[in-house]
Amino acid sequence: MGDPAGRHFLQIPGPTNVPDRILRAIERPTIDHRGPGFGRLGRQVLGGLREIFKTRGNVLIFPSSGTGAWEAALVNTLSAGDTVLMSETGHFSTLWSAMARRLGLRVEILEGDWRTGADPARIEARLAEDRARTIKAVTVVHNETSTGVTSPVGAVRAALDAAGHPALLLVDTISSLASIDYRHDEWGVDVTIGGSQKGLMLPPGLGFNAVSDKAMTAARSGGMVRSYWDWEAMLGANETGFFPYTPATNLLHGLAEAIDMLIEEGLDNVFRRHDRHAEATRRAVRAWGLEVWCRDPTGYSSSLTAVRVPRGHSADALRHIILDRFDMSLGNGLGRLADRVFRIGHLGDFNDLMLAGTLSGVEMGLDLAGVPHARGGVGVALAYLAGEAARTVAVPATAAGPA
Ligand SMILES: *Cc1c(COP(=O)(O)O)cnc(C)c1O
Repeated sequence: MGDPAGRHFLQIPGPTNVPDRILRAIERPTIDHRGPGFGRLGRQVLGGLREIFKTRGNVLIFPSSGTGAWEAALVNTLSAGDTVLMSETGHFSTLWSAMARRLGLRVEILEGDWRTGADPARIEARLAEDRARTIKAVTVVHNETSTGVTSPVGAVRAALDAAGHPALLLVDTISSLASIDYRHDEWGVDVTIGGSQKGLMLPPGLGFNAVSDKAMTAARSGGMVRSYWDWEAMLGANETGFFPYTPATNLLHGLAEAIDMLIEEGLDNVFRRHDRHAEATRRAVRAWGLEVWCRDPTGYSSSLTAVRVPRGHSADALRHIILDRFDMSLGNGLGRLADRVFRIGHLGDFNDLMLAGTLSGVEMGLDLAGVPHARGGVGVALAYLAGEAARTVAVPATAAGPA
C-alpha cells in the first residue's frame, strides 16, 4: 500500500506533529557552525530557552534524545556511590532509576502505583529521617508520559525546604515543557531535563539541561567521569553562542522558530490550550464509559490522556485498527501497562479540530475493535470545546447590517 491521502495523525505523546513553520525553518541550508552567522543563532536559542524554562540561569543544549539529557544531569552533579531518592511514577521514572543504577548510584525508590504522582509528604518524611544527609539528589518526573499523571514540583521543592535538606532537585520535563506550567527558578529546581520532540514541536534530536548555581557548584567540585556531557566545556563555548562540538544545526533553526511561536502565542495561552484539550478528552473518555488511567484529578496531565481498556480487550489491537483504518498513531501502554491502556497525545502543535479528528478516530476505532463503549464521546467533547470557545470569543455588541 502507498501512503494514504491526507495528513497522518501523530497522536502519540511525542514525537508530536511538527508545524509547517518549523519544518520550513529546518529545511534551510546547513550553515557553518564555526562561522560568523552561527553565534547569533546560538545566542538567540540559548537566550530564548530561558523564557521557556522560566530561568535566568543557563540552559544547555545537547544533540541527543531526552535520555541523553537525563544522563547529563546525573553525571555532572553526582558521584558513584551517592544516594538518589527517586519517586516511582511509571515507566519513565523506572527507566531513569535503572540508568542511575547503571551509573553506579545508590538508588532509593519511593514506590508508587503508577496512577498518582510523586508524594511530597513521603519525600519530606524520608528526607527528615536522613540526618546524615546521605541523599544527594531527589528526582521527579513532572509529567509521567506512560500514565498521564503529573507530579507537583513546587510542593516537592517545599518538601525539601521543610526538611531543611540540601539534596539537589532534578526534574524531568521532557513531556511537560511548553505544554504544562513549569518554573525552574521559582520552584528552586537544580537541573531541569527537557527534550525537543514533545511540547516544543520539534523533531527528536535535542536534549536540554537547565541548571541552577547550586547544580553548577556541584558539577565543578564533583560529578562522574564525563566528556561529551560535560557542562563546563559546553558553557564555555556557549558564552559566544558556539558549541564545543558540532551541534544539530538545522534543529537549532527549528528551535528558534519554536521559541518564537510559543512567545507569540504566550506561554500562559499555550498552557490553557493544553488544559482545554485535556479536559475535552477526559470528558469524551467518560462519555464512552471508559476510565482515565490517572486516579488523582490534581495530577491530570494536559499533555496526554492514558485510557484503560476494559478487561478482556486489547489496547494494542484497538491501536492497530485505528492506524490501519484512519491513519492515526496513538501511544501504546508501556512496561506493566502494555496492552492495558492506550495513550492519546494532545500536546504540541494542536488545535480544536485536530482534537475533534483525533477523538473521532478513537470513537470509530472502539466500534470497529468491538470495545464496549457508549457512543457520543466526541459530541460531549465538541460541546465542551464550543462552550469554552463561546466564553472567550469576542462577540460584537450589535450585528452590523448592510450599509
Ligand atoms: C519521552 C520521554 C523520555 C525519553 O526521551 P527520549 O527522547 O525518548 O530519550 C523521558 N522522560 C519522559 C517523561 C518522556 O516523556
